[in-house]
Amino acid sequence: MTTLYAGGLVFDGTGQLLENHGVLVEGAAIARVAPLDEFDGFAGDRVDTTGGTLLPGLVDCHVHLCHGGEANPHAAMVVLRDSQITMKALANAQTTLRGGITSVRDCGGKDYLEFAVRDACNSGQQLGPTIRASGRMICMTGGHGNRLGRVADGVDEVVKAVREQVHAGSDLIKIMATGGVMTPGVNPEDAHYTAEEMAAGISEGHRFHKTCASHAQGSEGILNAVRGGIDSIEHGIFMTDECVEEMTRRGTYLVPTLAAVKNIIAHKDQGVPAYAVEKCERIVVDHIRSIRMFYAAGGKIAMGTDAGTPYNRHGLNAMELQYMVEEAGISPTDCLIISTRNGADLMRLDDRGTIAEGKAADLLIVDGNPTTDIAMAAMAENHRMVVKNGVVAKAR
Ligand SMILES: [Zn+2]
Repeated sequence: MTTLYAGGLVFDGTGQLLENHGVLVEGAAIARVAPLDEFDGFAGDRVDTTGGTLLPGLVDCHVHLCHGGEANPHAAMVVLRDSQITMKALANAQTTLRGGITSVRDCGGKDYLEFAVRDACNSGQQLGPTIRASGRMICMTGGHGNRLGRVADGVDEVVKAVREQVHAGSDLIKIMATGGVMTPGVNPEDAHYTAEEMAAGISEGHRFHKTCASHAQGSEGILNAVRGGIDSIEHGIFMTDECVEEMTRRGTYLVPTLAAVKNIIAHKDQGVPAYAVEKCERIVVDHIRSIRMFYAAGGKIAMGTDAGTPYNRHGLNAMELQYMVEEAGISPTDCLIISTRNGADLMRLDDRGTIAEGKAADLLIVDGNPTTDIAMAAMAENHRMVVKNGVVAKAR
């Protein structure tokens, strides 16, 4: 089946905004991007994008499909059976797709239950986003994530924990460099793994061709992860000049996850654990300062939300674009590149993230022009259509 998308603007994911162009989709892939007159007399199906913009589907590099954005996601999870958690994760994945997100990276699940969801969506058995998943987060005894993660101490055990994730079928390694918000009794500012433990875990992941993502909030932990060769710093709250310099020199990605902190503070009187509220209020100013500093220095950013954390709902992931523009001062065009091409680059999805011939037909059609008004891409009410591998996943 061939479908021609034409009439409106085309944002290609690299920063180009094309006028008077058509995008021809054949089956699951983009077959042609060309000036409209080339399609004169085209007799197949058409989708009229007049008054809107065709974008690559958005890419969210940080979600937790097993968590549902409840006030206390951990408490909501422990009462469920594994089978229920798996069904919930599938529903979360499908809701995410309908929200315009055609690829996600799960940065920590529960006992590999999310791998079944990943495999069902990636194989086409279920309609869902393309999923890459880390399996269990690797953390130190008592460290951030220890309630669900793989606890490992010392270089040998960290290496073994990485091997376990690889053996279980993980696509990436998630390793915790610092404390965090959602675990009681730990501080975001504190480094957790030592530089040696981080470097050993990361190099073991790389040895098996896995990218490595590190939850890293405090400065010392960020540096331990970056100098150990990490591919992405998640959250990056207390960045120093030294952190920014090391990351930009090495090309390390930052995945800011503004939605996580923002939603906890916005709903602080609605059942969110007090320790999480207190920590978010303590770190929010530094978080925004850090992202602004990194963006100004020309650092590589990829979109991520931490969807699944309190009131950070799957399906509303695109709101992160609004936060990046409004809070962090990122230009709408850069924000769209960050949320399409850059996310696909970090996730090693060579066939996604841009609109070009031969790429998968993962598309989002929005009202208006999101390069001048980011709300067109950020708010689901402005989304007209979501297409996954050529199949319409949502149409308004
Ligand atoms: Zn997370």
